[in-house]
Amino acid sequence: MHVVVVGGGLIGTLSAYFLHRGGLQVTLIERNADLAAECSFANGAMLHASHGEPWNSPAAIRQLLGWMGREASPMLLRPTRLPYLLGWGVRFLANSTSRRHREATLANTRLARYSQARMEEIRDHADIQYDQARRGIAKVFWDQAALSEALSLSRIIEPLGIPFETWSAQALVDAEPALGANARHLAGAIYYPDDETGDPHLFTTGLGAFCAALGVDLRTGVTARRLVLERGRVAGVETDQGAIPADTVVLATGAEAPRLARDVGIRLPIEPVKGYSVTVDGAGLDELPRLPLIDDHHKVVLTRLGERLRAAGTAEFTGLDTAINRERIQLLMHQLGAILPGLRDPLFAAPRSEWACLRAMTPDGPPIVGRTRVDNLWVNVGAGHMGWTFAAGMGALLADLLTGRSPGLDPEPYRPDRYRGL
Ligand SMILES: Cc1cc2nc3c(=O)[nH]c(=O)nc-3n(C[C@H](O)[C@H](O)[C@H](O)COP(=O)(O)OP(=O)(O)OC[C@H]3O[C@@H](n4cnc5c(N)ncnc54)[C@H](O)[C@@H]3O)c2cc1C
Repeated sequence: MHVVVVGGGLIGTLSAYFLHRGGLQVTLIERNADLAAECSFANGAMLHASHGEPWNSPAAIRQLLGWMGREASPMLLRPTRLPYLLGWGVRFLANSTSRRHREATLANTRLARYSQARMEEIRDHADIQYDQARRGIAKVFWDQAALSEALSLSRIIEPLGIPFETWSAQALVDAEPALGANARHLAGAIYYPDDETGDPHLFTTGLGAFCAALGVDLRTGVTARRLVLERGRVAGVETDQGAIPADTVVLATGAEAPRLARDVGIRLPIEPVKGYSVTVDGAGLDELPRLPLIDDHHKVVLTRLGERLRAAGTAEFTGLDTAINRERIQLLMHQLGAILPGLRDPLFAAPRSEWACLRAMTPDGPPIVGRTRVDNLWVNVGAGHMGWTFAAGMGALLADLLTGRSPGLDPEPYRPDRYRGL
């Protein structure tokens, strides 16, 4: 069976890898010259199974509405975007009840744990260097109430295999001296020892090269224009370089997946949510933090990648627009300075690269993995803020379902047909 995977980000590349391992003939097409050139390029670099909570918690909804239209807020919903958000937004709100939010958190956590195990297998199979670090991740808190709330959630996900430790502010500063200047403002931290970090772009391009050597037909610089529908099935993909026939097509085109799916009558409930990162070249800087940090208050994550320090975060509901908004970058730099005031000046003076891209968010939280009602069209999309963490799990799950093997994870919460019309 010949499978064409459209989209060479983390999810498409991992799908291609596992489909090939499942014995199928695989073609992977990506419109950019390089794999992982879009949302999988410079994300927060965290594989954080501890962080699967979808963004529609009752508290987050209150924050989002309170910040509406405020350019300098960590989550920005522009009033002009509201009319486009009607259908998706109503579902996002409907899924924010504590019961549904909890179910979605558990589904995401199970997928993330499954993904951790699949990453181990890949590491055993392929030698890919991606500035990986297995130091765990610390979630830092500035007030006791937020820490207590997060501890309740940690206790809920702990039985799924997410161990944690509660740290005092002093224990946190002992583990990460770069936070020393903030010692008296911090309430403490929750440390998740099994979380990891690594550069998603290096990983994806490394895995892509590995796949190509194994026999995956890797075609970069090829844009899919349309899915060709014949007698109710997808006959192939029409690209800017000719048609590619396929027995099965897997759509892994991230935030843009609704475009191609619409051609064949599938309406994917995906909303693009823009995020930003800055990556500071820290060569020669002493005291760069070594411990990866998540700061939910400032809505930013900090990850050391070799000699680089990346700050990533913020959310902007702005449609399919990837332009870099200066104010959002300034906000990110401001947050970086607020968390690491002792390093503010050298970090601001160092060379840095800036990046913005679109998370593909579903209205209920879990991604969409599986066969659509167009029999041979499969989708692997909607990973939201968790795509690096989920990628290996989503790739393996899709490949197991497609090749008819019993998946190592209950696929129910991720099924496309949980949405009407899919
Ligand atoms: C600021 C930020 C920080 C983040 N931090 C983290 C983190 O720390 N941990 C984590 O787990 N996740 C994180 N994420 C989420 C993660 O980056 C995404 O979920 C993940 O990259 C999605 O991968 P993807 O393969 O679905 O999408 P993409 O990487 O966008 O890949 C889709 C690919 O499809 C290609 N494509 C689209 N249309 C076509 C077409 N017509 N023809 C050919 N190719 C096409 C695109 O060029 C693209 O390469 C973050 C996201 C952002 C924005």
